Amino acid sequence: MNPQKFYVTTAIDYVNAAPHLGHAYERTGADALARFHRQRGDDVFFLTGTDENATKNEQAAREKGVPTQAFVDELAAEFRRLCDVYQITYDRFIRTSVDEDHKKGVQEFVRRWIANGDVYRGTYEGYYCVGCEAFYDESDLVNGQCPLHPNRQIQHIKEENYFFRLSKYEKALKELYAKDPEFTVPETRRNEVLGWLDRGLKDISVSRGRSLEWGIPWPGEPGHTVYVWFDALINYVTGVGFGSDEKKFAKWWPADVHVIGLDISRFHCLYWPAMLLAAGVPVPKKVFVHGFLENKGGKLSKSSGNVWDPFAFLEEYGVDAARYLLLREAPFEKSSAISAESFATRFNADLANDLGNLVSRTTTLLEKFSDGRVPEPHEGDSERALRERAVRTLKEHDEAATKLYFADALASVFALVSEANQHFQRTQPWQLVKDESKGRELAGSLYAGIEAVRLAGYLLYPYTPNISAKICALLGVTAPDVARWQDVGKWGVLKPGDPIKTGPALFPRLEKVTA
Ligand SMILES: [Zn+2]
Repeated sequence: MNPQKFYVTTAIDYVNAAPHLGHAYERTGADALARFHRQRGDDVFFLTGTDENATKNEQAAREKGVPTQAFVDELAAEFRRLCDVYQITYDRFIRTSVDEDHKKGVQEFVRRWIANGDVYRGTYEGYYCVGCEAFYDESDLVNGQCPLHPNRQIQHIKEENYFFRLSKYEKALKELYAKDPEFTVPETRRNEVLGWLDRGLKDISVSRGRSLEWGIPWPGEPGHTVYVWFDALINYVTGVGFGSDEKKFAKWWPADVHVIGLDISRFHCLYWPAMLLAAGVPVPKKVFVHGFLENKGGKLSKSSGNVWDPFAFLEEYGVDAARYLLLREAPFEKSSAISAESFATRFNADLANDLGNLVSRTTTLLEKFSDGRVPEPHEGDSERALRERAVRTLKEHDEAATKLYFADALASVFALVSEANQHFQRTQPWQLVKDESKGRELAGSLYAGIEAVRLAGYLLYPYTPNISAKICALLGVTAPDVARWQDVGKWGVLKPGDPIKTGPALFPRLEKVTA
């Protein structure tokens, strides 16, 4: 594929509580995508950050007796630390209460709505959930409460503020989805969005009038702030220069994909494209709605908490395995039940056994039977089967990763790993070495095995970057973050005579399986 610009975002998170494993999951998925595109030669911009202008932060800070800014600074730092320990390679970590270019860009965005006649003053009367910081229609409520916060009393409020003419964009949104059905993926999420669209769109309140000092001022209206959801959505354009650096903005916008969770698809798949159209800005190319991590069999309760705390989870498994387990055990495109047992089982089966054993046995076989050097290739039936598996994996992996189906992408890499292990069982180099007339077969078996290891090593880079780098170092090949894919992403790259090293186990087996 030709190198292109690629702009990926995560949702920016509310800083009202410490990060949980779901935050690590979303960022790890977006990071795998960013690394995958960089590895294929694309020019990538990866935006993440924190959503800090919620009025409830002001209330929470007041209750704690600290300044609002200090309160959000502390929580935002935890989200940034989460990114750092999970080795999330963001290009920018945007903070909506701190970054002046964001505040300026939001006001410019709103000014364009005003100029376009798309906002008006009105009285809002209806339901408001403080947990969501969102308005609900009566028809949205479940048993009279917020569908996401059934135990929290929803408020009935009446206030004067500005409304955005969402209804005006109903037709344009229908056209958008007719023209580009893949605007929202996967299909289950799109169908949900189309259902909302079919029921019709009402104008929505986009400012807050009764508060307070926290938030981005509404242009020309003292005492009003931009309602936090809208200020947050606008981060996707201000993060790459809207309203402050038009050259940068022209380079990166439209976003290639917004990666979000399923609880915020209405905002991203309906409101956001309408907001952009009203501001005269092109819509993004795609919204990918990932699933949620769900508790399997009640075993991941708060009392067994280590699995839900993303820092403890990382501590337990290490960064590579933590990233791998999240994306392999919980397919990004749907909600998945996870458990401590299934993580431990997966760790041992895939990482300690299949991959760890393959790397260690292959490098050891080369050390013993080939003087620690790459032997001459020679292709028999088993080598051909392994090469064909590798070629299939290269194609399957990239197709799945492009769609953000990371569990499928990883399954294809591990199909190659497994085929390489079977290849050694079939060819038995430890037997071939006893027969002097089988020198060519021995060399061919080892060559195919080490090529499979090399390709698996490179393919794993988006998910397990440190392990990928270690495999490349053992093989003495270019590090995965700098190798050119057209040079390394194919079969038959290792040269006979190149030295190979052996090293310690990549993933020592977990003996104690935590329950
Ligand atoms: Zn709610």
